[in-house]
Amino acid sequence: MSPPPDLVLVINCGSSSLKFSVLHADGENPLVSGIAECLGLPDARLILKQGGERDTVLLDGRSHGDALATLLARLDDGGLLGRVAVVGHRVVHGGERFIESVRITAQVLDDIEAVSALAPLHNPANLVGIRACLAGLPDVPQVAVFDTAFHQTMSREAYSYAVPQHFYREHGVRRYGFHGTSHRYVSAQAVHLAGLEQGDHGLVVAHLGNGASATAVHNGRSVDTSMGLTPLEGLVMGTRSGDIDFGAAAHIGRAAGVDLAGVEALLNKQSGLLGLSSLSSDCRQLEAAADEGHAGATLALEVFVHRLARHVGALATSLPRLDALVFTGGIGENSARVRAMTLRRLAVFGFTLDEVANAQAVRGRAGRIDGGVGPAAWVVPTDEEGLIARDAARLAGLPRA
Ligand code: AMP
Repeated sequence: MSPPPDLVLVINCGSSSLKFSVLHADGENPLVSGIAECLGLPDARLILKQGGERDTVLLDGRSHGDALATLLARLDDGGLLGRVAVVGHRVVHGGERFIESVRITAQVLDDIEAVSALAPLHNPANLVGIRACLAGLPDVPQVAVFDTAFHQTMSREAYSYAVPQHFYREHGVRRYGFHGTSHRYVSAQAVHLAGLEQGDHGLVVAHLGNGASATAVHNGRSVDTSMGLTPLEGLVMGTRSGDIDFGAAAHIGRAAGVDLAGVEALLNKQSGLLGLSSLSSDCRQLEAAADEGHAGATLALEVFVHRLARHVGALATSLPRLDALVFTGGIGENSARVRAMTLRRLAVFGFTLDEVANAQAVRGRAGRIDGGVGPAAWVVPTDEEGLIARDAARLAGLPRA
């Protein structure tokens, strides 16, 4: 008799890509992971990584369904498909309906569809991934883990926009926040690493990747965050502007002769680090260019840090006490330079820097990087996939490995 299924397949389905991994119920050490990319285009392909090996398969069809069918066939060949006990899906927007991860039912699918108007770029792609898995693995339970869920604990004063409130009541116009899986995981890890009390702590978590957001966490709950109805608000990001005066956005539209959708696309795709530097959205590349004296790259990094420090200061006002600032995400986990610039700007709150510890906390290494006086500063690598796997395993009733 074959052993009972014990693995979790994690799926993160975007508009033109599908990331996946197969993990144990404890969310550690993926057995296989990879990405299907260029979906919808002639060179759609599936890249599988397993035990240091990398295998690229050109897909016969171009759709998400084709990619998933090929992935499931590959997992079957490798003897893993029959071991998948549950599928965990990342879903970007859960609106006010979803305050935690859930088992997917027909009603849940309808509800995710209903909030798609709030995330027209993301939720439809997430639904494609869920439906393809339901078709390919009809007997396996599926779980949805929402980017917004962790922030549903924000108070009304924190989530309300100062606009006529019938837009909130009738159209859900309010702040929701994103990267909730990362903020939830990283804040819990930081409390553990820093030896803080579960029921008595105040943190600001800065998730700095291609997308970036910061969250104030009080006693394990999100009390304020920098992103809003969409992931456009808040910090400077790879290609997103973050905060901007809407009057400036309207002026850009008039000046460039583009409509509202055109301005929205410009602020999402051509702004941020890319727009500031006229060079790249990639922090590593900007640091190298700044070292060579590139003025745009230098400006981009300075504006990024200025905005981040301003948000950390603002978020701290939602906490009774600021115990620690926690850096995570590709930039937060690797850029000692951005972290040092940020802590220097935050000297007004008493932050200090241990330069040696800061230089060492890179490439997945967690560590405390402040100088031992004032609030602490930590680097904590995020693990969104692991958290999705653990939530899915818990909701499917799998024993922890
Ligand atoms: P993520 O979206 O979390 O994968 O983060 C991507 C961002 O992390 C990009 O801007 C990368 O340039 C940045 N990043 C990755 N490694 C480094 C590094 N060693 N130094 C600076 N930035 C980095």
